[in-house]
Amino acid sequence: MGAKIIDGREFAAEVRGKVKDHVTRLASEHSIVPGLAVVLVGQDPASQVYVRSKGKATVEAGMKSVEHKLAADTSERELLALIDQLNNDPSIHGILVQLPLPEQMNEDLVVNAIEPAKDVDGFHISNVGLLGTGRKSMVPCTPLGCLMMLRDHHGSLSGLDAVIIGRSNIVGRPMAQLLIGDSCTVTVAHSRTRDLPEVVRRADVVVAAVGRPAIVQADWIKPGATVIDVGINKVEAPERGEGKTRLAGDVDFEPASRVAGAITPVPGGVGPMTIACLLANTLTACCRSNDIPEPVGLTA
Ligand code: NDP
Repeated sequence: MGAKIIDGREFAAEVRGKVKDHVTRLASEHSIVPGLAVVLVGQDPASQVYVRSKGKATVEAGMKSVEHKLAADTSERELLALIDQLNNDPSIHGILVQLPLPEQMNEDLVVNAIEPAKDVDGFHISNVGLLGTGRKSMVPCTPLGCLMMLRDHHGSLSGLDAVIIGRSNIVGRPMAQLLIGDSCTVTVAHSRTRDLPEVVRRADVVVAAVGRPAIVQADWIKPGATVIDVGINKVEAPERGEGKTRLAGDVDFEPASRVAGAITPVPGGVGPMTIACLLANTLTACCRSNDIPEPVGLTA
């Protein structure tokens, strides 16, 4: 029997719908509109696309979207001044600085200049520490999206063996903290892991966040396991014509979907959840700053 395909587009649309409903209630009951400021420095084409889609999704959810586009040669001091202004703007509840930043900027310094309560990316060191100690924090969007999909599929994750492949600050590490928080037994694998296939075979839940196309093979997967594929890799697609490419995940999808119990595709799995969770985080930040109960099911 084939795996259930977890449809990230459908799930993300549901999350965005819940955010929008809550935003509508906030406006009618409290006259508050959540606001998200996105800052882009430079002209990186991929970043421009991300920023555009984030702005569009924010407006569609009924929230205020503010975009600050700065020239590539902006000084760090100018960027820090803008962040300070946004930190002090009561109509802005979430601030996101699109990464990567140009060379002259110290990314750590910039990220840590954002007010932690407005840090909707969850990258501020205070939020990292809060998450790592099991306290309420702003949670990075991609792992939050993975957690939502896992909770939806399993109900309780308590006691499950989870293997995360990848230990980045953006995905692997926060994912590990979230799954520990949900009482999984967590293993974090990485490039130095000995016998990765054997480690993955123990897992009821596999989260692959490596950035290597189809590294996770079907025979690594325990029959019936849930597989969340975070990887986004561009691979050659000669079947589409000369020089064409397509997106592929870190999991060898077709064969793996004959072994797994449930699996996310790429594209259309984790990807759409990331923006949905950015909206959810902006709403959560707005509720927290106004002492209004935060929406159920939209945060960790
Ligand atoms: P990083 O490059 O920061 O981290 C990759 C991790 O994979 C590292 O911990 C690395 O180990 C590990 N790794 C590399 N090679 C191997 C290997 N052969 N065996 C085992 N582990 C290995 O990547 P990110 O975490 O930022 O992203 C991972 C993937 O997820 C990328 O494809 C990225 O595009 C995608 N992504 C998708 C998002 C979405 O919205 N869907 C959002 C963010 C990322 P080590 O630490 O030892 O070097």
